[in-house]
Amino acid sequence: MHYLADKDRYASMVYNRAGRSGLKLPVISLGLWHNFGGSDSYENGRAMIRKAFDLGITHFDLANNYGPPPGSAEENLGRILKTDLAPYRDELIISSKAGYLMWEGPYGEWGSRKNLTASLDQSLKRMGVDYVDIFYSHRFDPETPLEETMMALDSMVRQGKALYVGVSNYTAEQTADAIRILKELGTPLLIHQPSYSMFNRWIENGLQDVLRDNGVGSIAYCPLAQGLLTTKYLGGIPADSRAAKPSVFLQEKDVTDEKLEQIRRLNELAGDRKQTLAQMALAWVLREGRLTSALIGASRPGQIEENAAVVANLDFSEEELALIESVLA
Ligand code: NDP
Repeated sequence: MHYLADKDRYASMVYNRAGRSGLKLPVISLGLWHNFGGSDSYENGRAMIRKAFDLGITHFDLANNYGPPPGSAEENLGRILKTDLAPYRDELIISSKAGYLMWEGPYGEWGSRKNLTASLDQSLKRMGVDYVDIFYSHRFDPETPLEETMMALDSMVRQGKALYVGVSNYTAEQTADAIRILKELGTPLLIHQPSYSMFNRWIENGLQDVLRDNGVGSIAYCPLAQGLLTTKYLGGIPADSRAAKPSVFLQEKDVTDEKLEQIRRLNELAGDRKQTLAQMALAWVLREGRLTSALIGASRPGQIEENAAVVANLDFSEEELALIESVLA
């Protein structure tokens, strides 16, 4: 059926500026890591993308290897662009990445100019677009000079294949070096994509300071700790949840009694705020303007609806923050 985007799609979503750039991102962005691959339901993925865009979620995050099989999430997004979203291309921020294993041989991963350049060309083909809005170095390469990786990113912008560049999973020190090199090249680092949630706070030890001091944006991946920071595991492990599925990234053994106890207490605090736990966990990563966007995943449209409704209450009192700290301690 022909898709027409909701005319009220910009009515409630909140948009944050990425660092000191000209680009604003929705506070909730949608990632296609799980549930959008060739082995997933295409129509469900399509329904989720439509739902997200109807709610003002303009940013869709991909990587060369998202699937399974690797590459199929980009192919599926390409199909959805063709049938539904192509008329809205200028309202969309599409990102992709290279760095993890994508093809055999010495050029299929890491941070060489060879890998990044070939991978972006493949991604553009799979998605059927002329450019991506943001292209990331997916992980720091300890063997390739950082200058080479950053020069490759700079080249992509100059060639018009990417509008902005980012890094993901870089430490504070690696990020500071990347910022300096890119500045010299004349292509500023737009954004960093780290993991961050109530259960994973590594970026508070230095990285956030580097980003703030240099006017670089940030978008947190796994802000719900892959679903742990929702109520879904409180009554056991649902058969259709990520922990029950073959994903090696969240397993049954990660749902510990200690975590469940924290989740239960956090859920009570969320209830006091008239929010769901997922919403409170998302508001928390975004608190005090520390992050540009929270990058969620989803397995059904209703989750996106629930998560996007976080915009109704993004603020915390000092007391609420202290109570959350006491649960996480
Ligand atoms: P989340 O922490 O948001 O977890 C998403 C999962 O949580 C969903 O798939 C769903 O799992 C569950 N969920 C979401 N909303 C709700 C809700 N309201 N109620 C109940 N359950 C809910 O993020 P992801 O781990 O999916 O990662 C998000 C994105 O981050 C990825 O798509 C990718 O773009 C990016 N990423 C980047 C990485 C990098 O190295 N740069 C690494 C990993 C991710 P279920 O299937 O159980 O329903």
